[in-house]
Amino acid sequence: MKSFEEDTILNYIEEHRNYAIKVLDKLVRARTVNPPGNEIEAAKVVIEELDAMNLPYQIFEKEKGRTNIITQYGEGSPSVMILSHLDVVPEGEGWEYPPFEVTLKDGKLYGRGTVDDKGSMASALLVLKAFKELGVEISGSFIVAGVADEERGSTYGVRYLLEEKLIKADYILVAEAMNGNIEIAEKGSAGGRLVSKGKQAHGSMPEKGINAIIKMAKLLAKLEEFKFTYKPDPLLGGPTLNVGVIKGGVAGNVVPPSCEAQLDIRIVPGMDKDTVKKDLEDFISKLKQEDSEINIEVDIPRSVPATSIPPDSPFIKALSEVVTDVTGRKPETFGIGGISVAKFFILQNMEAPVFSLGDESLDHMANEYITIEDLVNNAKVFALLPHRLAKLKSS
Ligand SMILES: [Zn+2]
Repeated sequence: MKSFEEDTILNYIEEHRNYAIKVLDKLVRARTVNPPGNEIEAAKVVIEELDAMNLPYQIFEKEKGRTNIITQYGEGSPSVMILSHLDVVPEGEGWEYPPFEVTLKDGKLYGRGTVDDKGSMASALLVLKAFKELGVEISGSFIVAGVADEERGSTYGVRYLLEEKLIKADYILVAEAMNGNIEIAEKGSAGGRLVSKGKQAHGSMPEKGINAIIKMAKLLAKLEEFKFTYKPDPLLGGPTLNVGVIKGGVAGNVVPPSCEAQLDIRIVPGMDKDTVKKDLEDFISKLKQEDSEINIEVDIPRSVPATSIPPDSPFIKALSEVVTDVTGRKPETFGIGGISVAKFFILQNMEAPVFSLGDESLDHMANEYITIEDLVNNAKVFALLPHRLAKLKSS
């Protein structure tokens, strides 16, 4: 085994960029539109490349054809995983290029999945090829995972792999295009509903009943004044609340006995289903002082906590340092209101930032592309990451 020479690895990657382009083309040609997913098609491409490199791998399927593939180079610790997903969203309309093959134009590689997320798998395979062919000894171990079903809830992908304890690493890079920045915080969510209870009566005698819709409307009209109790988070800001669906009534000539409003609440650290419920109940009881007929229950059955990684953790430091060296630009760390697969790992105490070079706004669009530069630079970042992390940890 040769020791890890950064320049040698970087030169190899530079000289073998066509390999990553060729593999990306094969991955894009493998139809893995989800639904139905059929990730086996992309996994076959990965298997073909790993076989050619003589690297072992493991296959996991919750259902036939919904393939997850994991391979590893090196045995030591810490383990760093590059996580890429094999499924893509449907091509949709408006393509100037064939969606299921790679078209190269002006340094851009067009095709469904190029930036989201097959490009990162092509880059990771180039790294494995560099390690293997150069015969280098790396610090720790380098794991590459291609997972299923990211675009539709990860039932057959990360959630299944975590439930069955099939996937594990000290550090996981969720390799999704983030414009070269590092996503380290995600809001949590609390879904639920408000249920207004009234009293049914004949529509010609509304005074004999209590109109559950009108009572709900009184609350909803005031909702813009409602505030959760919380401490603002530096990356996530504050919580949000959306009323997405309202249902109520049985017929035009009946005073409605009930009305329901469905809520989507995004929460920040310190909040959970109980704090959300209490805040809403307090607000409703104040309203009751103005109208004692208001009878609205708050039903928040579950919540998923907000998650974050310390921006000064060794992994984020190493990643930031490597990205700066490779691209000449220091990445920013930021938080999002949505939820990615990173959250599932963080909730199981694995550090999982989301990062790759590539234009995030092209995700799910027609004429999606990744530049050759980003494809190659992602490989360089992935390759240097375990080495720099080990150095940082031992210094
Ligand atoms: Zn994606």
